[in-house]
Amino acid sequence: MGLLAVSGALGLTAPSTASAAVATAATAAGGLAHHTPLSARSALKRLMAGNCRFVKGEMIHPHQCPERRLDVATHQEPFAQVFSCIDSRVPPEVVFDQGLGDLFVIRTGAQTLDELVQGSVEFGPLEYGTPLVVVMGHQRCGAVVAAVESLEHGKDLGPYLNRIVSALKPAYDAAKASSVPKHKLVDATTRWQTTLTVRALEADPRLAPLISAGRLAVQGAYHSLDSGRVTWF
Ligand SMILES: [Zn+2]
Repeated sequence: MGLLAVSGALGLTAPSTASAAVATAATAAGGLAHHTPLSARSALKRLMAGNCRFVKGEMIHPHQCPERRLDVATHQEPFAQVFSCIDSRVPPEVVFDQGLGDLFVIRTGAQTLDELVQGSVEFGPLEYGTPLVVVMGHQRCGAVVAAVESLEHGKDLGPYLNRIVSALKPAYDAAKASSVPKHKLVDATTRWQTTLTVRALEADPRLAPLISAGRLAVQGAYHSLDSGRVTWF
């Protein structure tokens, strides 16, 4: 179960205009910048507020000034970590309206995970106490489109892109098993890829104890290219 499902019982829902405004004011004043590490719930609220600004076109571009650059030059305390796709349209710092020192970001094609990448995902929570890892897929993911075409038609993409195809096959198989219409296969594969990646990270032997202790949450997400809105699993 994702953090959001847990958070629902705690009263955490998508930010209202009022709460987004409070978050905006607090962030603009630097009020949140030095309160790390936040709880996973607070970190998620902060991402939600930033995405709300992005969707409305009301970005404040926090922490992108020379003073911030100097402030984080010798230390960092990112409040969240985002694992997303390499796609040029989904940069987490833009989608969540954040700045320098705010996020650890890991990006691979269709947020595919292997042992090397998993080490990078472990880095924030284990070394910096980052309380939240967001795994974010997105609409019309080109890597998923290519992988689905390859798997449907046996297309060879070459030795390295084939590794991405192999990494996406469990998600493709799960989508096929759910009998989605063909025109929704890419989207379903993307969502399954996010779900399976969340599960894999939750099972990580070094992350699982942090999750059990309430010090870390792994949250699935989906970014709509059309609206800019991030929805939460
Ligand atoms: Zn993508």
